[in-house]
Amino acid sequence: MAGGKLQAPRGTFDVLPADAQRRDRLVELSAQVLEGAGYGRTETPVFEDTALFARGVGESTDIVQKEMFTFEDKGGRSLTLRPENTAGICRAYIEHGMHKLPQPVKLWSWGPFFRHEAPQAGRYRQFTQLDAEALGSDDPSLDAELIVLLAQILERSGVKARLLLSSLGNAETRAEYGEELHAHLRAHESELSDEVRARIDTNPLRAFDSDHPGTRAAMAEAPRLIDRLDAEDTVHFAEVRALLEEAGCAYELDHTLVRGLDYYTRTVFEFASDDLGAQSGVGGGGRYDGLVEKLGGPPTPGVGWAAGVERILLASQATTEGSAGTRAYVVVAKADERLRAFGLVNSLRAAGVTAEMEQAGRSFKGQMKQADRVGATHVVIVGDSLEVKDMHTGEQREVASLEDAVEAVGR
Ligand code: ATP
Ligand code: MG
Repeated sequence: MAGGKLQAPRGTFDVLPADAQRRDRLVELSAQVLEGAGYGRTETPVFEDTALFARGVGESTDIVQKEMFTFEDKGGRSLTLRPENTAGICRAYIEHGMHKLPQPVKLWSWGPFFRHEAPQAGRYRQFTQLDAEALGSDDPSLDAELIVLLAQILERSGVKARLLLSSLGNAETRAEYGEELHAHLRAHESELSDEVRARIDTNPLRAFDSDHPGTRAAMAEAPRLIDRLDAEDTVHFAEVRALLEEAGCAYELDHTLVRGLDYYTRTVFEFASDDLGAQSGVGGGGRYDGLVEKLGGPPTPGVGWAAGVERILLASQATTEGSAGTRAYVVVAKADERLRAFGLVNSLRAAGVTAEMEQAGRSFKGQMKQADRVGATHVVIVGDSLEVKDMHTGEQREVASLEDAVEAVGR
């Protein structure tokens, strides 16, 4: 081990202060939008029993087959770093008996997620998701509300994204359609990619996701699930669309939209940004009316989305405005005034003023330069006298006491 250069693990990154500010602002904005619509923040563990994801996300999905960080703990339990949030939220809903609360239960959260995939721009092994879910009602206004809220977050973050929308119907329709699609894939087997061919039996829907030319040609003629929806699901989808139109939320129908999770029913959607290249998805989600029951809870409809914080910030055209407001820099003009200067910095901070002082042994001139660098609006010079300089006007005046200095800066 000795001498080896230590680096952050492959596919991970450090968040440094300039970036942290943008991330914090996105989370604050999301909190405002979501709390304003009645969503309450939740936190669930970053690792869960492996069985939760195997059952919840689906055994045949890419996530479960290839992307999970799974390990055995010292007690011999199989645990997995969460690759997505919905399964954990549903587990918590069941565990805390939330079905006894007035429905729907609306929850939002943000935090780290983990997927073992090939790292590239916008695709990491640890990434951050914002997430919103509404459980306990299949009212189409929840589907539309969640979509509109994500659209608002993206818009206010300066992200231009297209909304792709479709409906997958219910489990029964999907199963029947699966057989029809299966027959179509078998009939075109020789044209398909190896990967798609290997999954004809386990997950035929994923064939729509392929960018293999032969597969794409075969899929262009495939039967469409949207043409097979039953009457109730057709009405549900029509209502979701009408509500989105009412809200002025533009969408494109994309009936090849297949989300990478097995649990979706009815509405599915994705926001795609053309500013991101291959990793175009900034966020997506859908309805999952069978999931809570599948995880051992009472029959409970649900709908939700997850959006990638890093992708939103990559796609964001918003310029990072410099932090507004007062900022004081305390210059120590005489070494034996350091105690007084330290006291002043603390008083300024207590009064709500962003304040810093010299802490690296700079000369007087070096300190004035540093004050400029940190964007100080005011400099307080602590020496034989106490002086406050307004950096915008250049005006400098003497004040009588530390209290007066705090007053002068804070005004
Ligand atoms: P993709 O098609 O890009 O793999 P996905 O369908 O796997 O995305 P979801 O499971 O729907 O993505 O996750 C929701 C959002 O989380 C995505 O839209 C994206 O913004 C973000 N995301 C997913 N995987 C990653 C990753 N490995 N690194 C960074 N962000 C990610
Ligand atoms: Mg993925």
